[in-house]
Amino acid sequence: MKMVTHFVNGTTWSGESARTAKIYNPATGKSIGEVALASKADVDKVVDIAFEAFQAWSMTPPAKRVQIMFNFRDLLRSNIDELAELLSSEHGKTIPDAKGEIDRGIEVIEFACGIPHLLKGEYSQQVANGVDTYSVRQPLGVIAGITPFNFPAMVPLWMYPVSLACGNSFILKPSERDPSVVMRIAELLDEAGLPKGVFSVVNGDKEAVDALLDNPKVDAASFVGSTSIGHYIYARGTNNGKRIQALCGAKNHLVIMPDADIGQVADALMGSAYGSAGERCMAISVAVPVGKDTADKLINALKSRVEALKIAPYTDASSDMGPVITQESLDRINGFIAEGIEKGASLVVDGRDLKVDGHEGGYFIGGCLFDNVTTDMSIYKDEIFGPVLSVVRANSYEEAVAMINSHEYGNGTAIFTRDGDTARDFTTRIKVGMVGVNVPIPVPVAYHSFGGWKRSLFGDHHIHGMEGVRFNTHLKTVTERWPSGIKEGAVFNFHSGSDTHSD
Ligand code: NAD
Repeated sequence: MKMVTHFVNGTTWSGESARTAKIYNPATGKSIGEVALASKADVDKVVDIAFEAFQAWSMTPPAKRVQIMFNFRDLLRSNIDELAELLSSEHGKTIPDAKGEIDRGIEVIEFACGIPHLLKGEYSQQVANGVDTYSVRQPLGVIAGITPFNFPAMVPLWMYPVSLACGNSFILKPSERDPSVVMRIAELLDEAGLPKGVFSVVNGDKEAVDALLDNPKVDAASFVGSTSIGHYIYARGTNNGKRIQALCGAKNHLVIMPDADIGQVADALMGSAYGSAGERCMAISVAVPVGKDTADKLINALKSRVEALKIAPYTDASSDMGPVITQESLDRINGFIAEGIEKGASLVVDGRDLKVDGHEGGYFIGGCLFDNVTTDMSIYKDEIFGPVLSVVRANSYEEAVAMINSHEYGNGTAIFTRDGDTARDFTTRIKVGMVGVNVPIPVPVAYHSFGGWKRSLFGDHHIHGMEGVRFNTHLKTVTERWPSGIKEGAVFNFHSGSDTHSD
């Protein structure tokens, strides 16, 4: 049985709290270890260390900080097999999927390697006689990251490479369900040459999160997780005067126009709805075919594909998707399915009660496909976070747009069509943060920014890309004049651009 503690000052640290939580292998349902749950006192100690480390780190030239990021990138690449194995053993996703998320995380490190250029700021000479103005971006201080179970490597990597490269110190509070991969990555970051104390991992639950949000030495927090917790974190953190970005839940629609190639759409939906057992905030969970003919063809194309899905533990290389994360999550998904049937939706493919030989205690469920779902049903309104695709039939393109725009979430969406006018209209009018045209999961690359609208994001900044740089820095604007430019006598009026004075 492994015991996962915390990572502080370049090494593991047990902390003083006696509280722990169990870690499970979702493919067997058996406990494989425990994780420490930090107390407020533990967190406060780590914050003090991070605060102290910030002083020298923030003054380290960006080009030197970036050398560590280059080393870190190389270490992640050369250890990717071990990292993927560790990740899948606690999360349950397939090895190619685990490697995929590490790769996407590495892309953020590569973006962060360009930070000297991105922090350059702007300079204006002679804004008044003898007066120059320049602006710079400076690090905030101690940043906290609070992350979900579904991308245990990638989502933290959305945050700390940019944050550290900007000169902040960072404390990560990963999900207590699959914390091991983060601990191993922390060792690699230390091996890359990061000074002690600049990056820490604190494992824990609500107590640790509240301690981070209440500590006056923490300047900002990035959160990714469910909407109810994200909203709470945003409210508590901003009430304490901190900068908060909280990326939250989703219900992503894919609109299928009558001119789309149904075979291509069905293939795209298989990956986007059932990949990683639907446990992705950018999973497509609602398909909206426009017109009866499109809908009938789509159901026909999907049915055989969903029935053919191979569900198996990550140790089986032929697996398309693994189990869901916990028994509680499985029960919740089954509850949604029962409610969908009761409210009159047609369950075309029923993946419940799936038994995987030798893994009878695992949290497995097969792909589920609902037809004739209506917008008043909970399977449409709520985020299920499982391998369940709902087909909501729309009579027109306008009905599809109105449906998406009135949903409470606005994370991702996509349209499949051959018509440029329709695609352009969709990208213009849709009220969603990330939009795909013939791309089912429009996750932006690292040098663009990731984030949703409406109740999918609280705060002003999206994550990584330039939005990440803005979130992790203060803007400072300096106006300066040297003694030779100063005229004699006091000035009491307020004006700018004068050729004699500046104000
Ligand atoms: P979660 O909200 O349960 O947990 C997220 C984090 O919050 C974890 O670190 C957890 O320990 C902490 N937490 C849980 N309860 C808390 C409480 N009461 N007080 C303070 N902190 C608490 O989310 P999850 O189940 O781990 O992840 C799934 C959710 O994450 C889904 O809703 C999914 O859509 C969302 N998600 C969103 C994005 C995005 O970019 N929008 C990306 C990935 C996942």
